[in-house]
Amino acid sequence: MIKRCFLTGEFVFYATSRAKRPHSFKRPQIKEVPKEFCPFCVENVHMTPGVLYATNDNKIRIVPNKYPFIDSDEKDFGIHDVLIDTDIHEEKMHNFSDEHMHRLMRVIQKRFSELEKTESIKYVQVFKNQGRDAGASQSHSHWQITALSVVPLKMEHLINVLRSYYYEHDRNCYLCNLEFGTRIVEENEHFISYLPADGKFAYGMDILPKRHIATIDDFTDNELLSFGIILRNSLKRLTTLLDGISYNVCLYSAPHSGDYKDFFHFYAQIIPRIGHMAGFEFSTGCYINSVLPEDGAKALREAKEDEPT
Ligand SMILES: [Zn+2]
Ligand SMILES: [Zn+2]
Repeated sequence: MIKRCFLTGEFVFYATSRAKRPHSFKRPQIKEVPKEFCPFCVENVHMTPGVLYATNDNKIRIVPNKYPFIDSDEKDFGIHDVLIDTDIHEEKMHNFSDEHMHRLMRVIQKRFSELEKTESIKYVQVFKNQGRDAGASQSHSHWQITALSVVPLKMEHLINVLRSYYYEHDRNCYLCNLEFGTRIVEENEHFISYLPADGKFAYGMDILPKRHIATIDDFTDNELLSFGIILRNSLKRLTTLLDGISYNVCLYSAPHSGDYKDFFHFYAQIIPRIGHMAGFEFSTGCYINSVLPEDGAKALREAKEDEPT
């Protein structure tokens, strides 16, 4: 079966004949960098180039990336932050408390808003690489926040698709109109976590605010709490199902540099890193997904029951 992802236009080949049972996706745990060599542990603060922000207990800190891919001195200006989201070397985000997730989301919102207002910044991307297969070079849990002087093609395309849908559907938002069927994983007062019907990644989840909100800037404090909890719970299910899995989390907010709020709907994407992008994906821009979204959602809903007590 072939589907076309509505938001990105990419083709997805659902290859269930290649489906593997979840346990065969399990990957070995990544060896931790020893604490004494970890630049993100508070006692090694001298290993990072300064501190941009820290909570008063140092549990959450933002530091400049030591190896930025964009330079704040360059003509093509950009900012590349690292947000260290815990002071405990081995702790992973799927085990954070409700309160800690709330604080973390407040810090992300605050920094996002500051960077957006920086002169010549057109777009801010917030993301997390967890595990080596997801591109993390440090095992200590962290996020990255990049502020760019350009709007990337992927975001430009997303804006165009959502804008077209809005005007072709009597000013209705595509994501407000979504139906989830049996693909819901978690739900709370303000958010829903589900597998998209045209999802590219096995067990990949999107998280959507129930209210039409274009950017994390506009989340209320209650929504920040709800978002933190549903993100943590969704990751908990994923890591229960696939022990040691690497994953990316990406947050998509409307760029402040345009008038997109009517049709752009914030969403977060969880990408489990099962297998690697290879020749087929790079050459065609198509994806192979060996787990149907309905089956993936069912496995994730049931995963919590397997949680060790
Ligand atoms: Zn550390
Ligand atoms: Zn909407």
